[in-house]
Amino acid sequence: MMQSMDSKPKKPWQDTPDVSARIVTSIGRIASVMRSGMWEFATAEHLNPTQAEMLQLLQGRKQGVRLSWLAAQLSISAASASDSVSALVSKGLLYKARAEDDGRATALFLTPEGAAMAARIGGALGFAEQAAAALPASQQAELLTGLFKLIAQLQKTDRFPEMRACLSCRFFEPNAHPGKPAPHHCKLVDAPLSVPLLRTDCLEQEPADPVTKARNWKVFA
Ligand code: SF4
Repeated sequence: MMQSMDSKPKKPWQDTPDVSARIVTSIGRIASVMRSGMWEFATAEHLNPTQAEMLQLLQGRKQGVRLSWLAAQLSISAASASDSVSALVSKGLLYKARAEDDGRATALFLTPEGAAMAARIGGALGFAEQAAAALPASQQAELLTGLFKLIAQLQKTDRFPEMRACLSCRFFEPNAHPGKPAPHHCKLVDAPLSVPLLRTDCLEQEPADPVTKARNWKVFA
């Protein structure tokens, strides 16, 4: 926009959005790039992105998952989740069986073909992982800590779906070794955990009770 000679802005950067707003915009842009990577992969495999994400979510979950859990993870309605599940079942990538923890309920499981597809999906987003891996190790650890802090704040809004993360795990002991480079502890393997080793999707994770979960995330909030 043209600006007259005598109407200089009072402060040159006054229109710059807050840092918080730019953080959210940047995360949104990264998510869009990853979604488009997922879209390319999914299209080539005759899947839609929701179906691809479902296969990814089921990866390593040998006990299967409920439809309602999948819908919550993807922030979609149960009806939409059900449509995608039906499509995946008809493609031979998923099957339904009795839930191990409740014989009256149905759970969803990956077929061997579905498991192979889920593994390939991980590779489709390898470009983003490579970009993160190119950062110096100290910056990766800082970024991971910052993201945990942001997730901890989002958890307070009850909008963030459950993760198989250390901070939500019953085996996690926060600050068991105060002042040490690896201050936290995993009781399952009985070993100290540093922040760079905290997992966001651990196959051995078992959910902690809500009070313990809230206490663990509060360490980062
Ligand atoms: S490494 Fe796995 S089992 Fe250990 S605390 Fe983290 S999520 Fe739990």
